[in-house]
Amino acid sequence: MSNAEVLSKLEEIVGKDFASNNQEDLFIYSQDPGVSQPRPVDYVAMPETVEEVQQIVRFANDKKIPIVPMGGGMTLSGLVIPIKGGIVLDMKRMDKIIEINETSRYALIEAGVTSGQLIAHLREKYPDLQAPYPDAPPSITIAGNALIHGSGYLSQKYGDHSAMINGLEVVLANGEVVKVGSCAISNYWFTRGPIPDLVGLFTSAFGTMGIVTKLSIKLFPKPKFRGLVIGLIKDFNTIPGLVLNLTKTDIPEDLMVAIAEKPDFMKGYGILLLYITGDSQDELDSKTKILKKIYRKNDARFMKLPPKYYDVFLEQPQFAAKAADFRKGGGFEYVGSNLPLEKIPQAIERARDISLKYGIVPTQVSRIIGRGHNVMFAASYSFNRADPEDMERARKALHETNELVLKLGGIPWKAEIAGQKLIIEKMDPNYKMLLKTIRNILDPNGIMNPGNWEV
Ligand SMILES: Cc1cc2nc3c(=O)[nH]c(=O)nc-3n(C[C@H](O)[C@H](O)[C@H](O)COP(=O)(O)OP(=O)(O)OC[C@H]3O[C@@H](n4cnc5c(N)ncnc54)[C@H](O)[C@@H]3O)c2cc1C
Repeated sequence: MSNAEVLSKLEEIVGKDFASNNQEDLFIYSQDPGVSQPRPVDYVAMPETVEEVQQIVRFANDKKIPIVPMGGGMTLSGLVIPIKGGIVLDMKRMDKIIEINETSRYALIEAGVTSGQLIAHLREKYPDLQAPYPDAPPSITIAGNALIHGSGYLSQKYGDHSAMINGLEVVLANGEVVKVGSCAISNYWFTRGPIPDLVGLFTSAFGTMGIVTKLSIKLFPKPKFRGLVIGLIKDFNTIPGLVLNLTKTDIPEDLMVAIAEKPDFMKGYGILLLYITGDSQDELDSKTKILKKIYRKNDARFMKLPPKYYDVFLEQPQFAAKAADFRKGGGFEYVGSNLPLEKIPQAIERARDISLKYGIVPTQVSRIIGRGHNVMFAASYSFNRADPEDMERARKALHETNELVLKLGGIPWKAEIAGQKLIIEKMDPNYKMLLKTIRNILDPNGIMNPGNWEV
């Protein structure tokens, strides 16, 4: 089939304005803000309905054309840049907020709904509710984030964002639509069980198992006041004990340890960012008192900042890039990973060595997930986009960090292709076999984001 015939079929499905193989249109889809090399894209299509997604997938399956689903395209690790060309399915037009269930506390949304859109909707119409969303730019999609085990403000209390998915509507490689979760049985998208839980099949799968068209995500009560209790840590070995004592209190909503060796006086220190919430300033004050005591007992120092800094840290979502970009030509990418809490002190020291080896200012954050059950450890490497050698240095630093994380018993998160290969090398052979079997059944023609999770 010629390129023109493929384009004509895509245009027939989504309309002339929403399909393209124009080089100018494809340029932006061939790269992302991280250090991944640009790769060619053949077509982009922007469906508006699940039926359009089905038609595109059926067509692509018939002609064996790869499909890559894309939300905001902001993972930084090249996950939506096609490895083997094909169609980028840009989900932005599927942007309906279908239902906010205030009683069972969930939002039923289409896959293209961005965090900015959901935040604005809730702030305006449901000010007592909040959604789980990351510190990423507001153009990211709730689906793209929840599907990759993202994390954010509520993760210390309630777990990562994949854990907050109640159910999914998915278009499989054969074009069939499947619902997973309670929505397979009931009109209420309120829970994943009590049936075999298949949501996990589609999380961190990077689009290899199907195209998610709708999801239900949990919502949470939104307290009226939010505050920040900052601490200074000198000895990183105290972090696990300190975190255990802090999470025991049930007080923090979000808990992070940040390492940023700029300005210079921060060298050698960790900053504890502990977010608290409540329904009055009095409540925040009494919680702060308890936390200060725990800081003192665990060798950490309470730190008071001028009010203008609190505003920056309390911004939601926080513009994290402000803290990460130190270089001219500003770009940054981080290896996120999931690590056991006990390995955080070692991870901090050794990722710092990697930064220094490549002449990059050490910048890290560890976000506590689910009361210390898991830690999202991110080592961020800035680079100058206009300098290929600088980008290569960042690539090497990222790769070494992936190796480090695996050595420490952790798993790189939203891993780029090279990182996925390292994970697969370490993977139990029977896990690989199971994954391969499931993929071959669901996608025998290998059209779903091929090149990812190649077991
Ligand atoms: C400054 C900055 C700060 C950040 N801070 C955080 C943070 O605090 N927490 C955090 O979790 N992340 C953070 N991130 C990382 C990232 O931006 C987010 O995780 C983001 O939510 C990813 O969503 P997206 O819509 O951009 O996903 P995309 O990059 O579009 O997609 C992610 C993956 O999901 C797949 N996918 C997307 N949509 C679908 C679909 N409908 N069906 C099937 N598969 C699909 C894609 O193929 C891809 O493999 C940050 C990024 C930046 C740039």
